[in-house]
Amino acid sequence: MGLREPDDTPPKGKLWLDGALKEDLIARWSQIISEYGLDVRTEEPLTELHRRGDGTFDIKTTRGEYHAKKVILATGQRGNPRTLGAPGEDLEQVYHQLYSPTKYHDEDVFVVGGGNSAVEAALTLSKRNRVVLSYRGGEFSRLFKDNRRQIDEAIAAKRIEVVFNSSVTEFKPGVAVVTVDHGGHQAEREIPMDHGFVLIGAELPVKFLRSIGVRLENEWTASPLPALALTTILLIAVWFAGALLGGPAPFGLGQAVGGVAWAAWAGTTFALLSLGGLFTLGVRGDRWSWLGVSFFAWYSIYGIKVGSGSEFWPYRGWGYETMSFFDRPWAFWYTILYTTLMTVFGVRALKRWGLDRRDRFQIWRFASLISFQWVFFFLIPEFLFQLAVKHQWVGAALASDPQFAEQAWRSYGIIYAWPLFFYTFLYDPNMIWIVWGVLLTFVVIPIFVLFNGKRYCSWICGCGGLAETFGDRWRHLAPKGKASVRWEWMNSAVLVLAVVVTALMLTRDVIGLLGAADRGMWVYRIIADVWLVGILPVTLYPFMGGKVWCRYWCPLAKMMGLMSKFYVKLGISRFHIVANDKCIACNECSRNCQVGIDVMQYALKQEPIDNATSSCIGCGICVTVCPMDTLSYSTDGTVSLPVLNAVS
Ligand code: SF4
Ligand code: SF4
Repeated sequence: MGLREPDDTPPKGKLWLDGALKEDLIARWSQIISEYGLDVRTEEPLTELHRRGDGTFDIKTTRGEYHAKKVILATGQRGNPRTLGAPGEDLEQVYHQLYSPTKYHDEDVFVVGGGNSAVEAALTLSKRNRVVLSYRGGEFSRLFKDNRRQIDEAIAAKRIEVVFNSSVTEFKPGVAVVTVDHGGHQAEREIPMDHGFVLIGAELPVKFLRSIGVRLENEWTASPLPALALTTILLIAVWFAGALLGGPAPFGLGQAVGGVAWAAWAGTTFALLSLGGLFTLGVRGDRWSWLGVSFFAWYSIYGIKVGSGSEFWPYRGWGYETMSFFDRPWAFWYTILYTTLMTVFGVRALKRWGLDRRDRFQIWRFASLISFQWVFFFLIPEFLFQLAVKHQWVGAALASDPQFAEQAWRSYGIIYAWPLFFYTFLYDPNMIWIVWGVLLTFVVIPIFVLFNGKRYCSWICGCGGLAETFGDRWRHLAPKGKASVRWEWMNSAVLVLAVVVTALMLTRDVIGLLGAADRGMWVYRIIADVWLVGILPVTLYPFMGGKVWCRYWCPLAKMMGLMSKFYVKLGISRFHIVANDKCIACNECSRNCQVGIDVMQYALKQEPIDNATSSCIGCGICVTVCPMDTLSYSTDGTVSLPVLNAVS
């Protein structure tokens, strides 16, 4: 199978567009309008839209009021052209769209903008006119590869003059006034202009859409205060309710006869009421309330898992015991919950990206994530390790060594390398774990990264696995834009903290440093292991996508990123995604990238995606979703070589 490009598809119906001149199209459309007797009213914008109880609509425009059964919004994807707000921009010879370039001949044309539309307009107009292009940036950074080549050629041939670092001060009849920044020194310049084109993009009609009740994706409306108040009441109520389950009575209520029981029942009632309140607000569209619910759920789950007697308030002293059923501790049930979520949502994601699209890469990827979770992060630590010790599959010596046999939790270190599995070298491990930890972290992982970049995050790791499966439905909500990329510095900070604390712990018997090692250990455990891994990322899945931990805080992801970048610089990395020239700028790849990479910009410029310029984890979703088969994996970084491409 394979998607055909639109050009190959014969047009159906009467609204053909292929290769037609604008005049022909308008004539054709006018003919259709009269043929079908369509009542088209121009110059009459919609101002208000209300849905009646029976599902029909009241419509107000600038000229009248209507009633309709259905309303079709066909305002176009791009909305209204953006304006500069400069004086004189409303002059007759200043336009915000270029309709008929062939109309202009031997004239002074002034174009404003630095995107593809402005550059394409300037190139087209320069064939028969004198063109000056004003751009506020110091260089073009968003151009298609072909546009960049053409504009460079036009500049070199003096067919177009580009005034970089310039902004329009004013439009006057026959002239555009611009201020040019020469490295801090501002100079004004007048540019002759028979016609001016301001082509600086478009604005979504957000105000209009809101006014008719359309909610935008990921939009935070309402105030956070009700959700904050209800979540706080919920936690306080749980604190009181905990007395029923063996928790300490708040404020010494036990001294009053019957005080504990009454307070505990009141706590239970308030807890249910506040939870109900959060749900009610959430169903009505208040995202803050869902954030409150999500925080309460994951704070409780992980705040209890900190350990018996160390639980977070309000669970301290009763949470862990209460959540430990059938002679199994809460940590075990947490693993069951984790594995169940990964399996159920993993199968769903496998179907969505793999089976439905017949994409073998994604089928293998999700099967790999689910398998690693089951084998290495559930069956081995919970059952197989104990069996191996009991039946001496690991040899009599190891099986009888308490330093090995009683530390089943260390088996997470079979796959989790330091510093993700932070404790691999700490707390007196058996030598076998030290040797394997060193091999895994400093030999196996570097070799893997050489060939696969950071694919550990999207094929193997349990943390990344939950994000890819349970978090998959929110992948498009990953923070995008330059500011969101700048925040990735945080995982460097966590890596440095991990290195320092590990060094302190390994040398604490020699150096001591007034208990700095133990304090550092406590800080790292609470900040990284509890809040940054356990509570915050999963709380934020429905709001910022699944990769908050992996992208912003994981020290192993940072370490692999640094290795991969080093390999790219040396020219020996085998991991790249490359693009051909077929991109239609649909934005699907950028929208679905869980680590917020603007993949489309790489595709448009035909620049390779690697870890020198991005935090790509090689999940391949951008390759899978691209309708034009623009993107593919490359093993040598110089040519497009689809080695693991979709089978469809
Ligand atoms: S750029 Fe593509 S392969 Fe890389 S993380 Fe984003 S979606 Fe995945
Ligand atoms: S999905 Fe493909 S066509 Fe769409 S923007 Fe990305 S690379 Fe271009």
